Formats: sequence, structure tokens, C-alpha cells
Amino acid sequence: MSDTYRVRASSWASLFDCAHRWEGTHILGMRMPSSPRAQLGTAIHAATAAFDEAVLAGQAIRPVDVAPVLVDELTSPDREVDWSADELTRRDAERIGLQLVTRYCLEIAPRYHYVAVELEVVPWLIDCGGGIVIEIRGTLDRSRARADGTGVGICDLKSGVNAVSQGRAKTKGHAPQIGTYELLYERTTGQAVTLPADIIGLKTSGAPEVAVGQIHNAREQLIGSDDSPGLMDYAADMFRSGLFPPNPTSHLCSAKYCARWRVCKFKDDQP
Ligand code: SF4
Repeated sequence: MSDTYRVRASSWASLFDCAHRWEGTHILGMRMPSSPRAQLGTAIHAATAAFDEAVLAGQAIRPVDVAPVLVDELTSPDREVDWSADELTRRDAERIGLQLVTRYCLEIAPRYHYVAVELEVVPWLIDCGGGIVIEIRGTLDRSRARADGTGVGICDLKSGVNAVSQGRAKTKGHAPQIGTYELLYERTTGQAVTLPADIIGLKTSGAPEVAVGQIHNAREQLIGSDDSPGLMDYAADMFRSGLFPPNPTSHLCSAKYCARWRVCKFKDDQP
């Protein structure tokens, strides 16, 4: 008899940021409304995915054709959005989102030959020992696989106020998610990922910017060896023990982003 935890592939990497927050959301079911900026990100990702899927299907498509996807996500979201949570209005979100989607479609997407958009993965069962099993499933949200004739690599779209800095997409902190996606892609398709990952940054503050940054060898953080455990070993320990440690230094440790904030005794809420 085993206990199986079903985990969405897109949530997995956030376990390694603050495991306590991840446990609150994904095991204990704590929920909070989406922030305006998070919803802007959802809208941008939905519109860019619609564009890339059409190109992959061989359809003629223009940025303006996917604008309704963005607007729809902002005006009729699937989840509750607290539009009072920050200074971003729905009108500004729409303006910024349309600029970024257009720039992505015209400047970034044509550089790549995508072979999969937000791929649905074959579930990955990880035996943690002690009768505990993790099943990672779902889709590679916000990601594409690209091919260049020499190999395959992951492209991951990241939106946010700090997604681009000095003309480059921010890559710091993204390796656990990229490594997970690379492993899931390989398990699902049987094809090795041999190219570095490209992070495509879409900056949602100030003048909207788009840029690319690279991550090499992301999988090394995930997979351990006999004398050096990887993140998957730490994850197995957490599920086996039921101890999900807090990280009050996480940049998402705030009432705005953490559903466990109100009841978490580990938060650092000093001014
Ligand atoms: S309040 Fe901070 S430390 Fe506590 S669960 Fe949330 S992010 Fe983690």
C-alpha cells in the first residue's frame, strides 16, 4: 500500500523556493486571489501560446489575432483576481500585455523552430521510500521545445517586473524548473535534450521589454550522485518525513504571494 501525491509539473519547482508555502497551497489546499500582475502573466502566456500553437499547426497568424485571448484572460479570468492588490489597473494590464505579446510574436518567436508548445507529459512516478510516491504530471506550462537541426532544447517564458535586466532575461533561480522540464520532456518523447535552455523574459514594468537568457546544465541540480544529493533527493526526504521547511528569505514571502502568510510563524514581517 502506498500514498501517492499528484503534483502538477508547473508547480514542482516552487517546492524548492519555500517548501512550506508549497505544502500550504498544493497539499493543504490554501488559496488566495490572483494578483493583477500574476493575472497579466497568465494572459500574456495564454496569448503567446495561442500564437505559437497556430504557427506549429502551419496556420497563418498575426499578433492581432491572439489579442482577444489576452483580453479575455484579463476580463473573464478562471480564478478570482484582487484588482486592488497593487497599482496595476486592468486597462494598464491590457496595454502592457498587448505590447509584450506583439513584441514576442514579431521579435522572439521567429527566431525559433518550435516542435512542442506546453507539452502534456507522461506522468513521472518517484518512489520516496516508506510507501510514499510522488506523481508529477500535467503540462510544461509556459514552455516550448525548440529544435535547431543539431538538437532539442527548452524555451521557458517568464513574465514579471524583473524578468529582464540590462537587456538580458533573468535566469537566476529558474534552474530547478528548467531541469524538471528537461527531464519530463525526455521521459515523454524519448528524445534527449541537448541544447541549453533559453529563458524568454517579458518585463511588465516600466517600458515593456523582451529579451533572452540561457541556462546550461539545469538537470545537474535535480539529479544527485552517491556523494552529492540532488534536489530530487531533498524532495523525496520532504515527502517521506512530511516536513516542508519554510524559507522566509524567499522573494515571494509576502501577503501578496503566499497563501500561508497569515498563519505562518516563520514569516519575516519586520519593517
Ligand atoms: S510566509 Fe514566508 S516562510 Fe511562511 S510559508 Fe509563506 S513564503 Fe514560506
